[in-house]
Amino acid sequence: MSGHERVHVFAPAVGASDVAGWVEYLTSAGGTATPLRFGATPTILATGDGPAHARPAHLPEPLAVVPTTGKSRYGHSDIRPEGTIVQIGPADIGDGAISVFAGPCAVETSEQLHDTVGVVRAAGAVGMRGGAFKPRTSPYDFQGLWWEGLAMLDEARERSGLPILTEVLDPRHVTEVAAVADGLQIGARNMQNFELLREAGAAGKPVVLKRGFGCTVDEVLAAAEYILCQGNDQVVLCERGIRTFESATRFTLDISAVALFKQRTHLPVMVDPSHSAGIPSLVEPVAMAAVAAGADALLVDVHGQPESALCDGKQALLPADFEQLMGRLEMLAMGLGRKLAGVTAPMLQPTG
Ligand code: PEP
Ligand code: MN
Repeated sequence: MSGHERVHVFAPAVGASDVAGWVEYLTSAGGTATPLRFGATPTILATGDGPAHARPAHLPEPLAVVPTTGKSRYGHSDIRPEGTIVQIGPADIGDGAISVFAGPCAVETSEQLHDTVGVVRAAGAVGMRGGAFKPRTSPYDFQGLWWEGLAMLDEARERSGLPILTEVLDPRHVTEVAAVADGLQIGARNMQNFELLREAGAAGKPVVLKRGFGCTVDEVLAAAEYILCQGNDQVVLCERGIRTFESATRFTLDISAVALFKQRTHLPVMVDPSHSAGIPSLVEPVAMAAVAAGADALLVDVHGQPESALCDGKQALLPADFEQLMGRLEMLAMGLGRKLAGVTAPMLQPTG
């Protein structure tokens, strides 16, 4: 049966009664037909040999009928050849412009966050990053400020207008984190935490899925399906480096994967040059390579005092280095016929 799986993709304007008519038609000779509203796109996954008779004239033509292997289904590039734009708050990812999210690895204090967000915003970042819940290798390391950190992110958004991208670690936290965050980050260590993926997919917020550092491209695509099959089409794939024999860098950025994700899926691709390189002087060249390979977005660690950072200070860019990176990216973007995404939200003054 699964050998005959195919997804019927319809125009957003196609309504529920036409979808029901299609389900009836597709199952007229047995098999199954499962409708799913994938973002704004009505789809029907059909199995079996297909309908017994010709299509009733009143049923609308599908935009596409995409055969699937069962592993890459809703993420398959043929589902939406024009690509998907993911909206994290006011920031669009995947519209052709290069969107930069930047900030500290971990939220430490209100002042630190405010200062860093001010700097990255002024330099052209369209969103802030910052972990309140930190997945640490050792339980004795700083674990993040949890709910207090989330409240600081909320406050920083109010002041800056920049949307929040922050990690959710635990399926039990998804609803509460999603109530504040504009985008949910799934960390590399949780890429195959399938219950977390399902919960995040169902939470109604965009999801940035970071590649597990021991996971193949196919495993990333399969993990993305856990989110997509909830009907959530707002998924960004994030390449953040994999573990290889090379130890000169923290991880090895898989640049081919950036291009492969773009070819195999309709989802936008983000690259994290900070966690992959682990060395500030490599962040700029790696970021430039990522953009040249087709990345839609970058995720960059920035810290005002990296030497005293509570998490990953070794890889953070200083504010001045981040400004330089943004200048170089702008020049590269021009050469590629692209541009840096701009900030549209107003900067608000601190209240306290
Ligand atoms: C992060 O971006 O804060 C992070 C923990 O990254 P990763 O999950 O890729 O290690
Ligand atoms: Mn980190």
